[in-house]
Amino acid sequence: MRTAGGPFCAWCYASIGADDPAIGVFAILSGSGPRVPGMITIQIDGRFVPGRIREPGSAAAMEGTDIGFKLCGRPCADDLTAAIGRDRALRIVH
Ligand SMILES: [Zn+2]
Repeated sequence: MRTAGGPFCAWCYASIGADDPAIGVFAILSGSGPRVPGMITIQIDGRFVPGRIREPGSAAAMEGTDIGFKLCGRPCADDLTAAIGRDRALRIVH
């Protein structure tokens, strides 16, 4: 299964090597509108965070989430999860 995002941590922007452990965080976007699969940037808690809209029919989509983020490690995953909790209305920037 492909992980979300590119070769950078979505939270601290550190590069993530192919052999580095990466953690995926998944979230639900607010509002209606098309969910076009691919990379987007959303604003969470004042920070611009790159994420990937899930492909329809993918495992994550069937679990009911819209977007996945790739993090370099547990601290960033925890920070992002906390930020998502504070800012529940995730808005697509691009
Ligand atoms: Zn990070």
